[in-house]
Amino acid sequence: MSAGAHRFDPTTLREYDVRGVIGDTLSAADGAAIGRAFGTLVREAGGRAVAVGYDGRLSSPMLEEAVVRGLTACGLTWKRIGLGPTPMLYYAVYELGCDGGVQITGSHNPPEYNGFKMMIGHGPFYGEQIKRLGDIAARGAYATGTGTTERHDLIERYVARLAADYRGGRALTVVWDAGNGAAGPAMALLAGRLPGRHVLLNEVVDGTFPAHHPDPTVEANLVQLKDAVAREKADLGIAFDGDGDRIGVIDQGGRVLWGDQLLALLARDVLSDKPGAIVIGDVKASKGLFDEIARLGGKPLMWQSGHSLIKAKMKETGAPLAGEMSGHIFFADRFYGFDDALYAAVRMLSLAANSRDSVGALRDQLPVFVNTPELRFPCSEARKFAVVDEVKARLKSAGADVTDVDGVRVKTADGWWLLRASNTQDVLVARCEAKDQAGLERLKQLLIGALTPSGIEPPKF
Ligand SMILES: [Zn+2]
Repeated sequence: MSAGAHRFDPTTLREYDVRGVIGDTLSAADGAAIGRAFGTLVREAGGRAVAVGYDGRLSSPMLEEAVVRGLTACGLTWKRIGLGPTPMLYYAVYELGCDGGVQITGSHNPPEYNGFKMMIGHGPFYGEQIKRLGDIAARGAYATGTGTTERHDLIERYVARLAADYRGGRALTVVWDAGNGAAGPAMALLAGRLPGRHVLLNEVVDGTFPAHHPDPTVEANLVQLKDAVAREKADLGIAFDGDGDRIGVIDQGGRVLWGDQLLALLARDVLSDKPGAIVIGDVKASKGLFDEIARLGGKPLMWQSGHSLIKAKMKETGAPLAGEMSGHIFFADRFYGFDDALYAAVRMLSLAANSRDSVGALRDQLPVFVNTPELRFPCSEARKFAVVDEVKARLKSAGADVTDVDGVRVKTADGWWLLRASNTQDVLVARCEAKDQAGLERLKQLLIGALTPSGIEPPKF
């Protein structure tokens, strides 16, 4: 290896980001190499300035220092925006005129994790680009130069931008839960700018996540929010993941609005302004979402799960709105097209404030199917993609109706079931949806039957 060459732990270079366990697979040396290799790619693309921010994890300031050290050695200007949610970093790339951005974040993972989400130009940095970053580091083939660092305090400006798109109506009572993640301070400022009554939970950043895990897609993490919504007789509750790019919403009765339901409601608002527009949902979403988009006069488009892939598809198709079951919601309508959970909250609150119906009643107007939640079952990094390929091959040879835009989504007379390998965790993800309970049971049996020959123990459901 040449001087400065660096090898990352191979498990850390992932499809959409770089992620690992501090003190095990991720260190300050990795941070510096990310900085130098990413900076080299930005220089190669003709860029001069990069924004860098970090989340509330205990190891984040250390990794930020390391990244900036690596980047400065590339001869770039580094605009440090400090602690904040990932979407504030994306916002900085646009508003500070940067050619890329790096957010140090472990997203919704346990406290010992950390990682890097990157953006180059105004697009996501993922897939082959992350592989190239690894190659540059391994060869030590870095750009060199003398960099400069600027500090920008952006939070007030960012929150003002979010609040500017609020469209008032009736006054709401809202409970917000940041789960002690990086969205807390911006959430508190945003709530302070909106009309109505706002109750804040876990708004203080704490990288040990003392209240609960900051992942609103797991219903157990919403117990505190549900209790507070009931106690305060609130109209709705809103929760964010650890870095503020995923949202969870509950209605006044404590029922969860899953990502596809949220997207179906938000699509009403967007499609009334932009009739006939494309709205993108991920392959895990309910048939009800795609039916609803079509009913509203929009063009439904099913695409691969993964925030980077959805953002790229939005750019390609000009879709003003997209979303994932995981709670990433992307607005290009009046906004930048990135996944900002705080912005999605502003749009959801505008919708609720302007509706005569409660959030629960809006939820009940959506098409009803019976479905399983997202079923996750452990499968090694080495096996997970192979298992999906094996299942796909068996289904195709049996003549099943299979969509393979991402994993396998199998249509039957009862409904559909999905199996895909998670790109971010060592799990296989499955979901079944049918018109009725008997159909759902049949689909579950098909799923189990499809997995057994690959030696996969099905989850309990
Ligand atoms: Zn996140």
